[in-house]
Amino acid sequence: MRWITEFFQSVFEAIFGFCRHNNQSRPFTIEGHTYKVCMDCSQQIFYSPDTMLPLSRRELRHMRAAQATASVAVMPATAEAREAVARRSRKTAAA
Ligand SMILES: [Zn+2]
Repeated sequence: MRWITEFFQSVFEAIFGFCRHNNQSRPFTIEGHTYKVCMDCSQQIFYSPDTMLPLSRRELRHMRAAQATASVAVMPATAEAREAVARRSRKTAAA
């Protein structure tokens, strides 16, 4: 019986060109994000850790916007640039 469902799933994917995410991992949380992973196409399906339901498109947009606006600390590449950043931070601390 299993080969029948696999056959129809592969036909479905061939016709429509996308995965139905039937073969998912258990939910897990990494770096504050809770999600399952589809074992067939490696798509991440994000979940709410409170309700354990998949996030809506709106909730996904909010999550991605929050990620995009999160500040990222970048180490300057050269020693001169690092000194310039340190001088600037000393000036603002003194002012
Ligand atoms: Zn999938």
